[in-house]
Amino acid sequence: MTQHHNPEPTANFIYDIIAGDIAAKQVTQVITRFPPEPNGYLHIGHAKAIVLNFDMAAQFGGRCNLRFDDTNPTRENSEYLGAIEEDIHWLGFEYGDPGYASDYFEKLYQFARQLIEQGDAYVDNLSAEELRRQRGTPTAAGIESPARSRSVAENQRLFEEMRTGSHPEGSLLLRAKIDMQHPNLNMRDPVMYRILHQSHHRNGRQWFIYPMYDFAHGQSDAIEGISHSLCTLEFENHRPLYNWFLKRLKIESPPRQYEYARLNLSHTLLSKRRLQQLVENKLVSGWDDPRLPTLRGMRRRGYPPEAICAFCRSIGVTKVESQIDMAHLEYFVRERLNKTAPRVMVVINPLKVIVDNWPGEGEWLPAANNPEDPRSGKRTVKFERELYIEQEDFMMEPPPKYFRLAPGREVRLQYAYYLTCVEVECNAKGQPTVLHCRYDPASRGGTTLDKRKVRGTLHWLASSEAQPIELRCYERLFQVSDVAAAERAGSRLEELLNPHSLVARSALAEPQLARHPQEETYQFIRQGYYCYDRVASVHERGPIFNQTVPLRDSWSKKR
Ligand code: ATP
Ligand code: MG
Repeated sequence: MTQHHNPEPTANFIYDIIAGDIAAKQVTQVITRFPPEPNGYLHIGHAKAIVLNFDMAAQFGGRCNLRFDDTNPTRENSEYLGAIEEDIHWLGFEYGDPGYASDYFEKLYQFARQLIEQGDAYVDNLSAEELRRQRGTPTAAGIESPARSRSVAENQRLFEEMRTGSHPEGSLLLRAKIDMQHPNLNMRDPVMYRILHQSHHRNGRQWFIYPMYDFAHGQSDAIEGISHSLCTLEFENHRPLYNWFLKRLKIESPPRQYEYARLNLSHTLLSKRRLQQLVENKLVSGWDDPRLPTLRGMRRRGYPPEAICAFCRSIGVTKVESQIDMAHLEYFVRERLNKTAPRVMVVINPLKVIVDNWPGEGEWLPAANNPEDPRSGKRTVKFERELYIEQEDFMMEPPPKYFRLAPGREVRLQYAYYLTCVEVECNAKGQPTVLHCRYDPASRGGTTLDKRKVRGTLHWLASSEAQPIELRCYERLFQVSDVAAAERAGSRLEELLNPHSLVARSALAEPQLARHPQEETYQFIRQGYYCYDRVASVHERGPIFNQTVPLRDSWSKKR
């Protein structure tokens, strides 16, 4: 297993447990796994699990497996398999060949037969409804099914008939024989196998019975020799059941399961099922909608995988559910992009400037692509008599602390010259339409010999060079920070969506950006980070750029 990122040892309770197991010689090789169900695309919650499992393996010189927990043929789709692998690779993690729970169906079937033979499992004919009723509640014991006393021979015969398809779907079940009075409902004779006459994406119609997740998961971990089975907290109550199966099956060096809290992120949902709802109801454009917390959405939005992993490592691993603010993730995105993103000048609301004293032809000036990265080189930008600046960078009557352009005021144009506004043309409403300015020829490159002070530095474009592009600017997908809580309080999902989560705008850009956009995230100087959208950029209005994140967090300011 190799990894693009080399993590520092992480201080978290799971690290400590693994270190303890090794010190006590309980475990010699650390093998973890990431076990997705192939029933949707990965989101950033999965990234937390991926980073944790791969980091733990890497830090202890072990291995992390990818295993598809594909035990439910009704919900799975092979389209997701490739997508999940792609997303894990994109995050920067490598593994050997992926495993599939469905490859262990024969082995799991043999395990089930072993339990039947030991008198630890029986075939029942309850309907799903009866099963639920007889299970009891946390305060009332369950009811023992009459089928509990079936003989081993009869259970063997019926289970074999289930396997060969002699019984209709839903007519029989295999249950573990544990304890209908058990305080933990998961221990009240849970279902191990059900009949499904369905085609499986890998095994076709080979099987008429399918193991339940709770029977397949722990045993699949055991088959793969997983040393530490890291799960989210909802599986804490299932651990006694998993351990019961492992013990009855007399599995040597069984996996040790430890649970940690899921990632919850503000203003969004982290559940494949809920995200699927958004996609199916066309509330977003697809699984890769840049507003979604899916890894595909984040990739399209321009989030670097390194930033996602750094975020996952920063939030720690605990046993307490909490919600992390989206701003925390955006901090890591900015931090990474500040180091890597090439700078370009883009004007969103253009205001014309005429440099009255500019002599004739344009001039090409050198411009550093990324001052944070000396290897990023330089490009040239054209300076000429007619320019565009941003409307909001000029005010007729500037308030205090406004250091941009105003009548009589001098500013610096990035990479170019000092510029002083001498005259303003306005329209009938008194809004400025053209600024007449003078440049200082002695200020080339943005400094002067007399070192006089100018406080504002503006981005700009030469009017003959500026090319149209389209921007897609994003805000939070939901208006409320805790979507699930708002739903519990009675709001419908649709009402909670932020109507301004996507705003398209046109803009003008340096020509190379419009003509040869690379599939990378740029810093539009003084605006934010934007990522070229190859998928959406098919129409005539010029290439489309997704806003990755504004330079500073304008959202919380606005609130
Ligand atoms: P979802 O609720 O989105 O469907 P899931 O848990 O059903 O998630 P799986 O495919 O079973 O999805 O998840 C694979 C692994 O990712 C599991 O180990 C699961 O615990 C972990 N995981 C899923 N969501 C999160 C999350 N929000 N935070 C941390 N780990 C997560
Ligand atoms: Mg799951």
